[in-house]
Amino acid sequence: MVTGDWDIRILGNKNNKGVKFPLTNPQSLIMLNQENLRSTLLQLDGCGYKAYKDIKGSYQFSDFKLIIEHIQGDPFAAPSKFIVIIPQAIARFPDNLYQSSSREFALRDYLTRQFDPVAQEMSSYRGTGKSGLIAIARIGQEVLERTSAFINKNEIEVRFLVGLPARGRTILGRQAAQMLCDEIPEIVNRTLKYNSLNASEIQRHVETNEDADWIRKQLKEKGLVAFIANGSILPRRSGVDSRPLLENRVNFQSPETLEVEFNCPNQGVIKGLGIPTGITLIVGGGYHGKSTLLQALELGVYNHIFGDGREFVITNPAAVKIRAEDGRSVAGVDISPFINRLPQGRSTTQFSTENASGSTSQATNIIEALEVGAELLLVDEDTAATNFMIRDRRMQQLIAKDKEPITPFIDKVRQLYRDYDVSTILVMGGSGDYFDVADTVIAMENFQPHDVTEKAKLIARENTSDRMSEGGEKFGKITPRIPLAETIDPSRGRRAVKLKIRDIDEVAFGTEEIDLAAVEQIIDPAQLRAIASAIVYAKEMYLDNKRTIFEIIKRVMADIQAKGLDILTEFPQGDLASFRQFELASALNRLRTLKVNEDRES
Ligand code: ADP
Ligand code: MG
Repeated sequence: MVTGDWDIRILGNKNNKGVKFPLTNPQSLIMLNQENLRSTLLQLDGCGYKAYKDIKGSYQFSDFKLIIEHIQGDPFAAPSKFIVIIPQAIARFPDNLYQSSSREFALRDYLTRQFDPVAQEMSSYRGTGKSGLIAIARIGQEVLERTSAFINKNEIEVRFLVGLPARGRTILGRQAAQMLCDEIPEIVNRTLKYNSLNASEIQRHVETNEDADWIRKQLKEKGLVAFIANGSILPRRSGVDSRPLLENRVNFQSPETLEVEFNCPNQGVIKGLGIPTGITLIVGGGYHGKSTLLQALELGVYNHIFGDGREFVITNPAAVKIRAEDGRSVAGVDISPFINRLPQGRSTTQFSTENASGSTSQATNIIEALEVGAELLLVDEDTAATNFMIRDRRMQQLIAKDKEPITPFIDKVRQLYRDYDVSTILVMGGSGDYFDVADTVIAMENFQPHDVTEKAKLIARENTSDRMSEGGEKFGKITPRIPLAETIDPSRGRRAVKLKIRDIDEVAFGTEEIDLAAVEQIIDPAQLRAIASAIVYAKEMYLDNKRTIFEIIKRVMADIQAKGLDILTEFPQGDLASFRQFELASALNRLRTLKVNEDRES
């Protein structure tokens, strides 16, 4: 039987740059079955590792189709890429579980979460290197769109990795047959069929995700930038364990004056604290939960799984965490709204450096976020540069303005809201000068929020700070930049594109390293992989030395939205996750080779 299967299928690929499987193996034109695969693998027992190339192809199993898409070169190399496709006639997921995109992303996330532990259970050390491994994308507390699983009314597609087993470079055919012909079917059986799964848990998972998206969409209409539901659990188990703290925790409860409610499609009414647009201060004594609240808000741009405690901590999707990041490189950013007259006549309208200071890096981080459409800035005094945040009356008297390049954030934060409609939430336990510029002041006390706005305003009236405001009446211009294509080079040696992801904070991009340790809203290595690929995609598709960074990034994001993350890679991959325009910009902006022109026409 001849099948055209090689270029139909692959749900994720809503047809992109012409992704096609190579039809080099004549066997791939014939639909082989599970027993053919088993006997081939048994025959390969004892052969050299390269002989595994023979099994590349598509196999009809009783319940699903197995596609062996890419075969590793040796047992230590990146594992082989596999895909299973299960028809809905067998998987039988009710279509209400994936009828909206919120539900669909949640269900795809759910399937990956089910597959993972069973694949781990099946994986065992079966020879050299990665021999015996069966693995899918590892997922944390957030629900992201991923390329590990897809679903539509016809079928389910799941992508995973297999370490084809060998001793040294000698194929272990019996073990391979067991993995591919017995274990993979068992994983499919247990994790990708509706009837083997917990129906009410799936329902809850998709409904939670849908309600969270729904609240996020309503925020603006209600004049809010963030919402924290009553009963939320904000603290995490530890700095390296993002599951909810179990013991001795205080659940979140809004003060009455700031309480709002949302009528959600699934859960009905959810009440909690609404943070209005404008400038919000979070104050309070040390160790009373200020940073924990801000961290929850940072991640409130993402949805969380049921039981996380933050499933209804919802932030404006254009919220960007801002911090000082000394040492970062900067390419031609106009930081003049904050910084002027640097020593040695250094330009601040096109500020470039290999090694930014605390204050210049923080100014850069703000301007770069604004450049790509940020609507809410999140700042924590713990990670901010003090001289960027405040300059009190006494210091103003000692160091005259013409000797101080920095206009502190306190003089710009209101203008930013007035001129550009950008709100700020600021953790500030250390300076009451900010009372003058705040719209809302929330005090954290023993991990509980209190509305102290009136009290803070009264104090500000009774004890004037006597500061002189600095930096003029207007926020100032946000100057768009045009990235120069030739300064973005992912090649290394003979390879046109060489990307390597080190955990969540570093990309090897060609011969360069991009350090993203300070970009706190990147939470998953799969996002980083997608971002690195997106820079390469942007260069191929849109960098023309005329378009601005924002124009380029908008186009990339629109393409992904329309066609899926698969457009970023040449072959379907299971290890990409969605990201925002801000994280893509962050990575591009931290590429040390980047050079830009100013957009003089705007
Ligand atoms: P701050 O920024 O006010 O100094 P943090 O937010 O860093 O305080 O919190 C201090 C500690 O208290 C952290 O270890 C954090 O995990 C814990 N914590 C925060 N919120 C809660 C809470 N609601 N219940 C219990 N512990 C919490
Ligand atoms: Mg803190």
